[in-house]
Amino acid sequence: MPAIVKFSDPIFIAALVSTALAVVALLGCWLLWRRSRTAMRSHEQLTRQLSSAQNLDAITGLSTPSKFDSELEDAALRSDANGQPICVLYLDIDHFRSANDAFGRAAGDGVLKELATRINALLKPGCPATRLGGNEFALLLAAPLKDAQALASQLLARLATPVVLPSGEARLTCSIGIASYPAQGSRRNIVERAAAAMRTVKLQGGDGFAEFDQQAADGRRESARLLHDLRCAVERREFELFYQPKIDATSLQITAVEALVRWRHPKLGMVGPDRFIPLAERYGVIQGIGCWVIEEACRQAQAWRGQGLRMRIAVNISGHQLRQDGFIEHLEGVLQATQTPPSRFTCEITESIAMEDTAATMAAFDRLGALGVHVSIDDFGTGHSSLASLRRLPAQELKIDRAFVADLGVSEHAHFIANTIVNMAHALNLKVVAEGVETREQRDMLVGMGCDELQGYLFAKPMRAEDLSLWAARDPRGAVAQFRPSLYSETEPHQII
Ligand code: C2E
Ligand code: CA
Ligand code: CA
Repeated sequence: MPAIVKFSDPIFIAALVSTALAVVALLGCWLLWRRSRTAMRSHEQLTRQLSSAQNLDAITGLSTPSKFDSELEDAALRSDANGQPICVLYLDIDHFRSANDAFGRAAGDGVLKELATRINALLKPGCPATRLGGNEFALLLAAPLKDAQALASQLLARLATPVVLPSGEARLTCSIGIASYPAQGSRRNIVERAAAAMRTVKLQGGDGFAEFDQQAADGRRESARLLHDLRCAVERREFELFYQPKIDATSLQITAVEALVRWRHPKLGMVGPDRFIPLAERYGVIQGIGCWVIEEACRQAQAWRGQGLRMRIAVNISGHQLRQDGFIEHLEGVLQATQTPPSRFTCEITESIAMEDTAATMAAFDRLGALGVHVSIDDFGTGHSSLASLRRLPAQELKIDRAFVADLGVSEHAHFIANTIVNMAHALNLKVVAEGVETREQRDMLVGMGCDELQGYLFAKPMRAEDLSLWAARDPRGAVAQFRPSLYSETEPHQII
């Protein structure tokens, strides 16, 4: 028979109390657990919010650069695993600073925000973008190069729509560089390579896109090295002048010699001016070289005069030199020091520089005219001269560009242009020199047109000063004998208009 438990039984009471205590304890634990869980959750939420705020750019709301970096890292790892390329697009807003200046900094931030929204709208999910600072953005696209190019085109079109601001409209363009991983760079340098491609676009005037080009990058590196060496080349006396005669078309006497600079590079050997003069002009190194060329050419002319050789000396003057403060004073000083009559010194200035309508260029021309030096317009036919501007210049000579001379006999067009230049120059009382004469046919045609002077390999290549003297005196070819009398006789200076 089962035992009957009475409610008054102390055992029963003890069991009841302990059960109740256990329930209460459990309830308490549960409540505590819930509270701590809620607290943990809200802490997590806060942390998440905080970290997401840390991962977003305050102005544009795009990923921060460090977040972008880790996304790029992940994307590169995925690419390594699945063999699918990824691309980085580096975007820079052209002339952003002037927009900032025009509309104010706050409006500038508004522009960045609006552009970021437009960028975001074009990105596929999972393709992050970041503002790297200032007005530069980087975008990541898990797709091949052709898709990145299509995206770049869309971005250019989308960002070109004016941004409406309270104080007006901001019209902006951008430059985009693209580099694809793994073909065009490693994980470490892919962004830098996209930036290099962007800079190429910038150099070409912006508003476009380009992909990374290893050859161009190598070229830039080589130019940087060459520029570094170029900066010390004058002091190290690494330059040398070669001279090429100009010949009177009828008497075949030497009328002048043109000084052409060469660079004896310690490692590369002889470097031609086409390789280093543009670099020197772009980076402001031309002044030192240009001054040395004038000094050396005048010193040589003085030495030749000492031997009885009185032809004019011609020096190529770059636009940068012409606009440089103190250029005329330096030239005047050298002419005086070497006792070179100004009319025996020719400044060869290219047509494109001569036609520059800037105050500095015009003032330099006026002062050259006042100094009485002989002025020659070089590479004529390649620029956009007007008769009015030609008349205004204090020039005495015009050199037909050698491209037209090379095409004589091949192209009727070239023949017509050369003929027109000769007639026009004569109408303006200018002498005409044809450069780059290589064949007898070219010579005969130019003489037939009434060209005054000729210069080119047919007569002589540019040569060292001592070789020029020897060449003329030694008479290596029969025809050269005819130049001889001119070497030691006065060359008539051309009339100055
Ligand atoms: P440029 O003033 O038009 O000089 C003529 C160039 O044509 C020279 O090249 C000369 O060697 C070359 N040449 C002469 N005759 C012939 C020919 O019959 N056939 C062919 N194919 N070429 C011929 P170079 O010496 O390499 O000079 C190139 C350019 O570099 C010059 O063109 C000039 O613009 C610039 N340059 C040279 N020396 C100086 C300098 O001292 N200062 C500055 N600013 N520029 C210079
Ligand atoms: Ca020249
Ligand atoms: Ca020329």
